[in-house]
Amino acid sequence: MIVEPLSISHTEIVNDFLLLNWGDGTDSMIELKQLRNQCPCANCAGEKDALGNLYIGPEQTKTTDSYLIQRLEKVGHYALRPYWQDGHHSGIYSFEMLRILGENLIGE
Ligand SMILES: [Zn+2]
Repeated sequence: MIVEPLSISHTEIVNDFLLLNWGDGTDSMIELKQLRNQCPCANCAGEKDALGNLYIGPEQTKTTDSYLIQRLEKVGHYALRPYWQDGHHSGIYSFEMLRILGENLIGE
């Protein structure tokens, strides 16, 4: 069986939500707050060293700006990088991750 790679045909920010139209015709809506709280970057999600120790950067004080997206950048054909209003933009969200977030399988 051939599994089609995920693709996104359209993205839009509507109020507090990121709207995604997938190449397979389905839609996802992700709350921006949830998206930011799940930021996968090394600072927010932590980084493991060779021994498996987890290092997490200092927790950032989040403001309302932290949950607003200035713009979205496509990273290759597999991920999106949001530029948050508070200047944070190191989180690269793979399509797989966005798909899971859109299905609300990850708690807040
Ligand atoms: Zn982050």
